[in-house]
Amino acid sequence: MINGENLIPVAIPWAMVGGGRQSQIGYIHRSAALRDGVFKLVAGAFDIDAQRGHDFGVAIGVNAERCYADYKTMFAAEALRQDGIRAVSIATPNGTHFAISKAALEAGQHVVCEKPLCFTTAEAEELRALATTKNKVVGVTYGYAGHQLIEQAREMIAADELGEIRIVQMQFAHGFHNEAVEAANPATKWRVDPKMAGPSYVLGDIGTHPLYLSEVMLPQLKIQRLMCSRQSFVKSRAPLEDNAFTIMEYDNGAVGYVWSCAVNAGSMHGQKIRVIGSKASIEWWDERPNQMTFEVQGKPLQVLERGMGYLHPRALADDRIGGGHPEGLFEAWSNLYVRYAQAMAASDRGDKAALAELHYPGIEAGIEGVRWVENCVRSADAGATWVDYR
Ligand code: NAD
Repeated sequence: MINGENLIPVAIPWAMVGGGRQSQIGYIHRSAALRDGVFKLVAGAFDIDAQRGHDFGVAIGVNAERCYADYKTMFAAEALRQDGIRAVSIATPNGTHFAISKAALEAGQHVVCEKPLCFTTAEAEELRALATTKNKVVGVTYGYAGHQLIEQAREMIAADELGEIRIVQMQFAHGFHNEAVEAANPATKWRVDPKMAGPSYVLGDIGTHPLYLSEVMLPQLKIQRLMCSRQSFVKSRAPLEDNAFTIMEYDNGAVGYVWSCAVNAGSMHGQKIRVIGSKASIEWWDERPNQMTFEVQGKPLQVLERGMGYLHPRALADDRIGGGHPEGLFEAWSNLYVRYAQAMAASDRGDKAALAELHYPGIEAGIEGVRWVENCVRSADAGATWVDYR
């Protein structure tokens, strides 16, 4: 249980790049990183507009001289300080992630980066090599993975409660972009511009979220080949897709399916994962994150509730308030930020055993997300044909 006691000896001095006043995702990064006292926000280059970023930094309590005009200036200036930053979170549009992550690692910073980590597997592998050389942790914010019941699913599958895994059914299918809302919304506009979004829209923006949940629940499954069909129902978004269907075959004979969609009119989030084994199935939906269904063939449906004593200790370790009181995305992200901080602290003291015990969306998850999108796009653009996963 997380109850406010220190989780690492000293809070890590931390900065943000992006996540400024008008950003969608900046606040949850700060809320998650600061909630349990594992990070201390001391600097930032919060905005593409230097003055706005400065004003915003001051307004959230950062010392004015440490609100920088851009990330390069920040890394250089912080390196000269005794009390300089040791970690940075990057919450900027996709097209900037690679350059900023690279600069941060070169400056000796631990990194938490938004997804997608970058545009190509080659770039992602370059970041991994750099992180290894510099002995730094890279976290990637697949935030839904911090929900307790995802941990419970992982433990139930490992304990063979589902039997042999046959089918993994996934979707992230919301309806918010059923029309060309990007015309009036800057945060959507860059998402459908290949220069800033990369080779895909919904595959990278949302499909990779349930994909990562499947990696947490089923760490042993490896994709062998996949087939993807993608469409731009709002024509002006072409060549980027606002809908995609991906079928995957895994190396153990199981199959998987991901529906990535931003035009599912009427749907709020629609992120679900259902894992079907030979004996039973589990299903989790991010709009009801405190419950997970467990269906054993021939028995009545069970609904597992977050925070209850019957859950696995690894799931309960993340609990903050006990069953019945709903927890949500903010707590899920906080759980991940705690693990990022613990990994950074363990890395700094060279504690390999502690590092091996921690699991969180890190550089491998970042690489896998980029690799999956690359393979989906290759298949879709070849006419929705099967492609070997590489
Ligand atoms: P946004 O457009 O709402 O905000 C982007 C912010 O970054 C703004 O404050 C902007 O001024 C700032 N910025 C842009 N370029 C910058 C630069 N070079 N230096 C400093 N600041 C810069 O975008 P958003 O919706 O918050 O998305 C940001 C990132 O977060 C994207 O990569 C997106 O995919 C990701 N995201 C992740 C999740 C998740 O669940 N993990 C959810 C939403 C967004």
